[in-house]
Amino acid sequence: LLALERATVRFGGRPVLDAVDLEVAEHQVVCVLGPSGSGKSTLLRAVAGLQRLDDGRVLLDGRDQAGVPPHRRGVGLMFQDHQLFPQRDVAGNVAFGLRMHGASRKHQDARVGELLDLVGLPGAGRRAVTALSGGEQQRVALARALAPSPRLLMLDEPLGQLDRSLRERLVVELRELFGRLGTTVLAVTHDQGEAFALADRVVVMRDGRIAQSGTPLEVWQRPADAFVARFLGFGN
Ligand code: ATP
Ligand code: MG
Repeated sequence: LLALERATVRFGGRPVLDAVDLEVAEHQVVCVLGPSGSGKSTLLRAVAGLQRLDDGRVLLDGRDQAGVPPHRRGVGLMFQDHQLFPQRDVAGNVAFGLRMHGASRKHQDARVGELLDLVGLPGAGRRAVTALSGGEQQRVALARALAPSPRLLMLDEPLGQLDRSLRERLVVELRELFGRLGTTVLAVTHDQGEAFALADRVVVMRDGRIAQSGTPLEVWQRPADAFVARFLGFGN
């Protein structure tokens, strides 16, 4: 579904994505791990079309995405700070992704109801997003990202601002949800427990490069190098 070929982004001459090769197959859930500043968000933004590549290519279904604007890529992105619209209610936030795609009003309402059920917020459409808990807001952001049925859903620290127990519960729910919908997911986290629980494949980034890519078990049992091992908390 998705392929990056030597994808490169430089800021002020410094490579932040450094010739990254990555493939994500349909229905796969891939988690990107790595320290702060290693280029994880930049990677997602490049795939979404929000960040231009200085070199290399992003391919979706084998088609080069150079020059294709974000809303024509068929990908959904949930940002690190989920960026809900405070002046709109829950339904208005979720419907945003649909309006962008020109859906009719009736279709929108039905779909919003469906999505809120899906993320465990049935009937919450008329509530103000400012009156929701952090976890509820993250669910609204997830529903918004899922709204246009993206063929690739990208999540940047989807559970970042939540406490441990809520994260653990939501990870289980997300895993179940993605399995049921057959969603292809590329998710960034710096919580390895989360990555290992969610992912079919884990990608560990370091300084704009992929230090290791493999199943959670492979990465856990055979870290590629000292950096990955240290990052996973082995040795010192
Ligand atoms: P975190 O875990 O903290 O979210 P990250 O892995 O998502 O980190 P990125 O946001 O991709 O990291 O940033 C990678 C590097 O690129 C950082 O050093 C950051 O300062 C730099 N960077 C990102 N966006 C820009 C920009 N628009 N202009 C200049 N530098 C940038
Ligand atoms: Mg980031």
